[in-house]
Amino acid sequence: MLQYLIILLDDTSVSFCHYENKKTERRLIPLNDLKEGILFAMKQNLMVQFVYPAYELPESYQTVIESIDNHKIQPASFGNTDADVVVYTCREAISETGFIHKDGAAFVLRVNKEELFAGYTEILLLLKRLNRLTLVVTDIETFRKEDVERYGEIVSTFKKGIMEQFDGESIPQLNLLTDRVRLDKMNNCNAGVGNITLAPNGKFYICPAFYLEDEAEAAGNPVDGLDIPNKQLYKLNYAPLCRNCDAFHCKRCVWLNRKTTLEVNTPSHEQCVTAHLERNMSRMLLKELQAKGLFPGKEIKAIDYTDPFEVKERFQ
Ligand code: SF4
Repeated sequence: MLQYLIILLDDTSVSFCHYENKKTERRLIPLNDLKEGILFAMKQNLMVQFVYPAYELPESYQTVIESIDNHKIQPASFGNTDADVVVYTCREAISETGFIHKDGAAFVLRVNKEELFAGYTEILLLLKRLNRLTLVVTDIETFRKEDVERYGEIVSTFKKGIMEQFDGESIPQLNLLTDRVRLDKMNNCNAGVGNITLAPNGKFYICPAFYLEDEAEAAGNPVDGLDIPNKQLYKLNYAPLCRNCDAFHCKRCVWLNRKTTLEVNTPSHEQCVTAHLERNMSRMLLKELQAKGLFPGKEIKAIDYTDPFEVKERFQ
């Protein structure tokens, strides 16, 4: 069921996920399209998430934005911000010396492989001062065997860091590890099913990445309604590997799927293996937390594979 409408306010709106936004020329969504998008969200009872560029919007836009209950996703370069989600680059996160953030704000840190491998100890330090950190590795599809091994070591270091920072009450939250500990069912990105994106050209897309990759791939508009070609393919039930998988925290990125396997419902080896490394380390974290009295009765089962494709006959 559709629950969220993501509105990209500008062509230069910050990326908060795997995709890169290489656009540098501003193209603000026309005010009328913004209003149509908000009306669509109101009629469908959707929560709106506005994705901001790194510049101040005209007052007329701010007034329209505040006409509906919303979540704001903003780049950290905004400085002091009342965003619900603040998106950092690695350099910004490490050098940041105390912007004022809204209480309860969540933080997204987008890093590539090189930045992660070189800066993971600094990333761990960030956990001490941020409420919740969502780490997005932007080039997971480039991981080779040795990168996966290195990634495993780093995720293990993150687990140790979380336990060291755990004060007996609140657990530092890092999506890669603490999400799976809490989840009992799939909680994926759900683009094209649970959320849809309105782009600055006034048209709908499966997600921001689909828009940035090819504007011709529109999936309707707020006036005529949604029109998603082969829309069943975005549903979990139509993803033969994912629907039986218990890496519940995995993004299950349909854009990445299509980029790597040419099918939106077939994941790449790299996406599955990294998600399973995280899943298995979450299992160890769970055990350590249980030894301290948390999550009684909760179980993440031991498994003998790291890519569901290796045991696909069991996943039929
Ligand atoms: S780990 Fe692989 S099979 Fe499991 S949900 Fe993620 S993409 Fe799907």
